[in-house]
Amino acid sequence: MAEGHTQHQHHHDHHGPHFRFCPKCGGTLSRQLLKPNEPKRLVCGSCTFIFYDDPKVAACTIPVIQGKILLLQRGIEPGYGKWVFPGGFLDRGERVEDAAIRETMEETGLTVEVGHLLNAYSYPGYPVVVLVYPATVLAGEPQALDETLAVKLFAPADIPWSELAFPSTTDALTEYLSRVEKSHPS
Ligand SMILES: [Zn+2]
Repeated sequence: MAEGHTQHQHHHDHHGPHFRFCPKCGGTLSRQLLKPNEPKRLVCGSCTFIFYDDPKVAACTIPVIQGKILLLQRGIEPGYGKWVFPGGFLDRGERVEDAAIRETMEETGLTVEVGHLLNAYSYPGYPVVVLVYPATVLAGEPQALDETLAVKLFAPADIPWSELAFPSTTDALTEYLSRVEKSHPS
């Protein structure tokens, strides 16, 4: 979990961490154009290592309890004090659905089952690809746990739109609610 904390610090940093040294040999990295149609790559001046700035993948759930959506108030930057659905970064080799379920448990104490992928949210210049799953709560009472200040159930009409943490939060909740509306027109 300590490693998770470190990763979360960079969750939505638009520029990503600025690595200076080669992880293989300790040589100095510099940005070089290797192929004309690709971004400049961080290349080691001592060995041939290329450090690719790969995107990160976050797996999230929208837990629904009796028609209300569980959101949590973030206890860490970025977005400290703002509202988001549970989620976090995949570990290498982890199934996306398993990461979404694990992060939801770590942050809220809820055991959830995920449905079909709602959508993938990505933005130009944004280092994180966010995958969001609507989720059914199987067990547990919502609690504010890891990196979380508070948890709260919101009726669709009460979603705090101006206090959401990230563009992906707004976009996924908008898409989720429009689908619910289509499947259960009022
Ligand atoms: Zn090197």
